Amino acid sequence: MSILSQSDLANRRDNLTVRLRELKADAFLILALPNVHYLGGFTGSNGALLLTGDRSLLFTDPRYQTQVSQESDCDVKIAKGPLITEVASWIKRLRLKAVAFEQNRISFDEHCQVHAALPAVRLKPVSGAVERLRMVKSETEIGTIRASVHLNSAALEQALRQFKPDMSELDLAAEIDYRMRILGADGTAFDTIVASGSRTALPHAHPTGHSIRGNQLLLVDMGARVAGYCSDMTRTHAVGKLNPKTRRMYRAVLESQLAAIEALKPGATCASVDRAARQVLRGYGMDKLFIHSTGHGLGLEIHEAPRVGRKDGTRLERGMAITIEPGVYLEGVGGIRIEDTVIVTETGCEILTPTGKELVVL
Ligand code: ZN
Ligand code: ZN
Repeated sequence: MSILSQSDLANRRDNLTVRLRELKADAFLILALPNVHYLGGFTGSNGALLLTGDRSLLFTDPRYQTQVSQESDCDVKIAKGPLITEVASWIKRLRLKAVAFEQNRISFDEHCQVHAALPAVRLKPVSGAVERLRMVKSETEIGTIRASVHLNSAALEQALRQFKPDMSELDLAAEIDYRMRILGADGTAFDTIVASGSRTALPHAHPTGHSIRGNQLLLVDMGARVAGYCSDMTRTHAVGKLNPKTRRMYRAVLESQLAAIEALKPGATCASVDRAARQVLRGYGMDKLFIHSTGHGLGLEIHEAPRVGRKDGTRLERGMAITIEPGVYLEGVGGIRIEDTVIVTETGCEILTPTGKELVVL
């Protein structure tokens, strides 16, 4: 185990299994891989956990026999066939009568298999139990996210040094991904977005062979993965001169982003932070151009709870890691988004992203 001690993992599992009594269940079945990672330390691509409170069983297949013993402190069971069959046989062997499962993380097929194998076992759907625990990060996790954010910013800075007008979006994206790897990232947290000109109006544009030309916008949205943890940053640059209308759009988004950050503090709802961002854009008559939520949690996954959106009543807590990323998009013209990764602190928040936010002209 590299960054997590065995007691970290055991504490996480205790925080979950303490809920078994209220759920009237004997065990939790965890099938979502990020949750298997979080609770069991295992990073392989095939795994399941069965947690009774007394016993922590981790199921995987023979390909991972060595890796799992290095990563996890759980009682490992190597399955020769489908994991779910092995899990079902252990539910039977341990005489478990009621098993809680993650309703949003199980396939219909897996549910049918467990039910068919164990008709007498009560299967209790639970939603978001592990995700709720994962929302608040430990000091170790915050340290890892910070390292991921810093690496991500360094990769952008290095990649932009290689930038030349008429470079293609794909070439710049490749340069960014390469820099992340050289700097020590596990990889990217998601497919790097590089969009130029009117393509910046597509919030999730894939890079293309288009040349990045002068007097246009260039939007880069990128994230690294470091020791499993994601970072996420968007910067919109000017290549050459921008017209006054586009510069006004930039100012509106920057003010909106700063207002949302200002509204961040423990006890505030996600919806109130989202409202702060929208209010600024309304003042500029641009609120209709902001077509997504203000941000999202991140950690082992690039999108985690909470969602910083209009309807999310989740109250912010110290230790949450979230992004703040308002944007405006005008079809046929262009789009601007500015995104930082922040940590909620005792009194407000700490912006982890070190990259400046004033408009950079390339
Ligand atoms: Zn992003
Ligand atoms: Zn994001």
